[in-house]
Amino acid sequence: MKIKDDLIAQGRKLACGDNSSEMPPQPGKQDPTTQYPRPPFPPQRQEPPGLASKMNPRPDHGEKSYRGFGRLVGRKALVTGGDSGIGRAAAIAFAREGADVAINYLPVEESDAREVVDLIQAEGRKAVTIPGDIRDEGFCKKLVADAVRELGGLDILVNNAAMQTSQPSIAELTTEQFDSTFKANVYAMFWITKAALPHLEPGASIINTSSVQAYDPSPHLLDYAQTKACQVIFTKSLAKQLGEKGIRVNAVAPGPYWTPLQPSGGSSPEKVQAFGEDTPLGRPGQPAELGALYVLLASQESSYATGQVYGSSGGEGEP
Ligand code: NAD
Ligand code: MG
Repeated sequence: MKIKDDLIAQGRKLACGDNSSEMPPQPGKQDPTTQYPRPPFPPQRQEPPGLASKMNPRPDHGEKSYRGFGRLVGRKALVTGGDSGIGRAAAIAFAREGADVAINYLPVEESDAREVVDLIQAEGRKAVTIPGDIRDEGFCKKLVADAVRELGGLDILVNNAAMQTSQPSIAELTTEQFDSTFKANVYAMFWITKAALPHLEPGASIINTSSVQAYDPSPHLLDYAQTKACQVIFTKSLAKQLGEKGIRVNAVAPGPYWTPLQPSGGSSPEKVQAFGEDTPLGRPGQPAELGALYVLLASQESSYATGQVYGSSGGEGEP
């Protein structure tokens, strides 16, 4: 209660324009082309799902830089794939804005997940870990039930976990891979959202991580790109169903971001070395560059945004 009161007081203080003490300085104006590492990157390869701790250079998820303004004080969030990459950036940002956060990930990612738990707890917020494979409907139901029980409710659901396996042609794309990609990226979003809905009240927010692949697919991501397109239409259709309930549903469509998804089979080793090179900014995005977008969509500040897709892709692709 004390922590919550302190955060509310901090939020009020900031809302009144007093940011003189305790808070780290806001990032200053910078050239975005040189703000973060540019290709070429060192050769690297990991077994899927990969670990952020083994990437070179290590991704920036906002660990040191994300600064909260009390925009999600007291909210309860569930983030799938919250151990690393874009999900970790959202989890850190949510906690810094005053939310308690449950993260889901695969058991082999426990070491990445522990780093996120430490960061959430450092903010005085509750961190809940629920490892497990979301390709299983029974686990998805349990995931939501455990999150709701441990957090004491649910206000924000981020369907972010995904599988991406590059294949040079349709001839190499097996039924097993096609099935697995759709289970993790499409079915799980359906199962988790369906299980979460009875717990969501007016003001709740669902955010699905789609991709520029939904609009401008790469030839080697035939199955993955289809799942990302499914997520866009799921988002737009569900937003129409849930509008009258006061529950908003939006999607984020990132371009190339420096996360374990890429060196663990999402891109070929050659593409990883040149990752982000062909964007107008000449580099991949870092997960930290998306944290504020997830906060915006989760918070009341975007109260009229539902059924929307927000892009952030270094100048390429749609939306
Ligand atoms: P990431 O590897 O850090 O995160 C993906 C997470 O998905 C993993 O951490 C893992 O915990 C989870 N996951 C995968 N299979 C799972 C399963 N069967 N059960 C439970 N969890 C599972 O990579 P990321 O790039 O941050 O990916 C997050 C989202 O961003 C994904 O939806 C991805 O499609 C999307 N995205 C990424 C990029 C990019 O360039 N990195 C671009 C556009 C969209
Ligand atoms: Mg991970």
